[in-house]
Amino acid sequence: MASDGLSRIGLAGLAVMGQNLALNIAEKGFPISVYNRSASKVDETVERAKEEGNLPVKGFKDPCEFVKSIQKPRCIIILVKAGSPVDQTIELLSKYLEKGDCIIDGGNEWYENTERRAEKVKEKGLLYLGMGVSGGEEGARHGPSLMPGGTLEAYKYIEDIVQKVAAQVDSGPCVTYVGPGGAGNFVKMVHNGIEYGDMELIAEAYDVLKSVGGLSNKELHETFYEWNKGELESFLIEITADIFSVPDDKGEGELVDKVLDKTGMKGTGKWTVQQAAELSVAAPTIATSLDLRYLSGLKEERVEAAKVFKSLGVSDLLAEVKVDKQELIDNVRKALYASKICSYAQGMNLIRAKSIEKGWNLDLGELARIWKGGCIIRAKFLDRIKQAYDRDPKLASLLIDPEFAKEMVERQGAWRKVVSLAIEVGVSTPGMSASLGYFDTYRRARLPANLVQAQRDYFGSHTYERVDMKDSFHTEWYKIAKKLLGDRAATEGDLKIGSKEQKH
Ligand code: NDP
Repeated sequence: MASDGLSRIGLAGLAVMGQNLALNIAEKGFPISVYNRSASKVDETVERAKEEGNLPVKGFKDPCEFVKSIQKPRCIIILVKAGSPVDQTIELLSKYLEKGDCIIDGGNEWYENTERRAEKVKEKGLLYLGMGVSGGEEGARHGPSLMPGGTLEAYKYIEDIVQKVAAQVDSGPCVTYVGPGGAGNFVKMVHNGIEYGDMELIAEAYDVLKSVGGLSNKELHETFYEWNKGELESFLIEITADIFSVPDDKGEGELVDKVLDKTGMKGTGKWTVQQAAELSVAAPTIATSLDLRYLSGLKEERVEAAKVFKSLGVSDLLAEVKVDKQELIDNVRKALYASKICSYAQGMNLIRAKSIEKGWNLDLGELARIWKGGCIIRAKFLDRIKQAYDRDPKLASLLIDPEFAKEMVERQGAWRKVVSLAIEVGVSTPGMSASLGYFDTYRRARLPANLVQAQRDYFGSHTYERVDMKDSFHTEWYKIAKKLLGDRAATEGDLKIGSKEQKH
């Protein structure tokens, strides 16, 4: 504690994230006061602090005493359930806070809530940050990726703390001042959307290897373990390799086969897709990963549907397939990597679109850098994304960065083979297909959108532009087409009459 006995910072909300982040902060040498609505978690945290090395953690069950125990200007991190619990906690604590103090919400909060709260507490002279925290329990305890957004002045209050508490990588701590307003929460939201995409793509790779290639869990473990030494090196590939090796503690075989195929979610993926739609940014891989979570939830329906289609012989498609295992493994690795590039391109473009809309001036390369450690999507590959934006900060899409473009071209043959094979044998790879579709659409100078626009002008007079002259145009498609049809009918009638006459 400081000589006055006051803590450097406070933290309210001592569930998984709060408890671990508090211990992390204390371990880095910053005395911390902690508070939770239910008193038992305060005792638990203080007990853990003792056990984990007499860390400087002071527990409080009274909110007033908690606030008063922190040195001014007071900084309090809130880590409670997102939504109204945050409002209630702010309401409670701000009674005791004073002008110049700062509230930092570390939850997965909707960015507009952060902006609303920042405005509200400003009336009392309080500062506010919305700080995305990624890395789960382990990250919070030993080094998360932190995405703080709000006023720069507020960030300066905690800069020394977050720089020590965040995961450390070769390029520094995995934290940066993201930008104003709700920028921190928005970036964390898109991080989670990208995480959804990564997890779906990995699940599809697993499905193709297992269902089409016939790989055992042991072989899957070996494959992912090897993949984690190369271009796919990442936390998610690492934990996937681990998962295949864990035996079932309640029966035969590996546990992964006993886990129900129903995926849960908490909402940040849905927000990402909603934002992509709001901002007119195509994010098909991320959207597909969300759809697949919905479809996974229809377990009972799928079981019934499987029976219906099995009776019609559809499931026999897989029985016929013969593949070279090693070739399939190599192709799936390439397909996964190329699909991942497309997914990250979508996420980064979504962040940029919001940054432009809100005037946040976000640095995409720096965001890729702070995701290199601590967070769930941490990966070697993020270094490459940082380099791509360093080469060209205005890069329209990661797909056209010279290095990524070359890699996609090198992998497209394998990628197409995996997707075609999966389609042929009826194993769904919607994420990989969505990524491939995105790539194939983005790289074509001319799309069939001319026809869609012509249809829109036909039925709705929405006008169209021409490829060969400026201005917008409208055509009476119906009248012209019907007239031509009439002329054709008349001509065909003449011809028919003519041919009849000829016969006679
Ligand atoms: P939870 O989201 O499970 O929330 C539990 C905490 O919220 C408890 O401290 C609980 O207090 C408190 N709480 C709930 N309702 C109220 C209320 N009305 N008033 C006051 N306090 C309330 O905790 P997590 O630690 O899992 O997550 C905290 C935040 O961090 C969330 O926004 C979450 O989305 C985010 N996050 C979580 C990650 C994870 O891996 N779990 C990863 C990254 C971010 P009480 O003990 O009294 O019930």
